[in-house]
Amino acid sequence: MRTLSFEGFLHDFGNVAPNTMNMSIYRDRFHCACGRSHWFDESIDVVCQGSRMKVMVTCPEDPSYIISLKIKTFMLVKFKGFDSLAGTRISSNEDALSFTTLRQYMRRR
Ligand SMILES: [Zn+2]
Repeated sequence: MRTLSFEGFLHDFGNVAPNTMNMSIYRDRFHCACGRSHWFDESIDVVCQGSRMKVMVTCPEDPSYIISLKIKTFMLVKFKGFDSLAGTRISSNEDALSFTTLRQYMRRR
């Protein structure tokens, strides 16, 4: 997993959209930007989705860590686990404000 600045992370993630995927079928461990790995279930905060089966999630133990996860599938139907593409950590008030704004936009329908 690449560790990026918050701005670099957003740039790397690319287009964002409110999550429309049913995440309940994706259950596996994923490597987190905090250095540990976590189990992906309904308690994981999915911030938004990107292109090509990618989601932005926060660390369940320290929400200042943000990770982009690629959902690996075989022919779109068979789940093959997660790839942690990049991670970042919110380290300034400016980043925190940007992230809050992003969340608000992603909740609006
Ligand atoms: Zn974590």
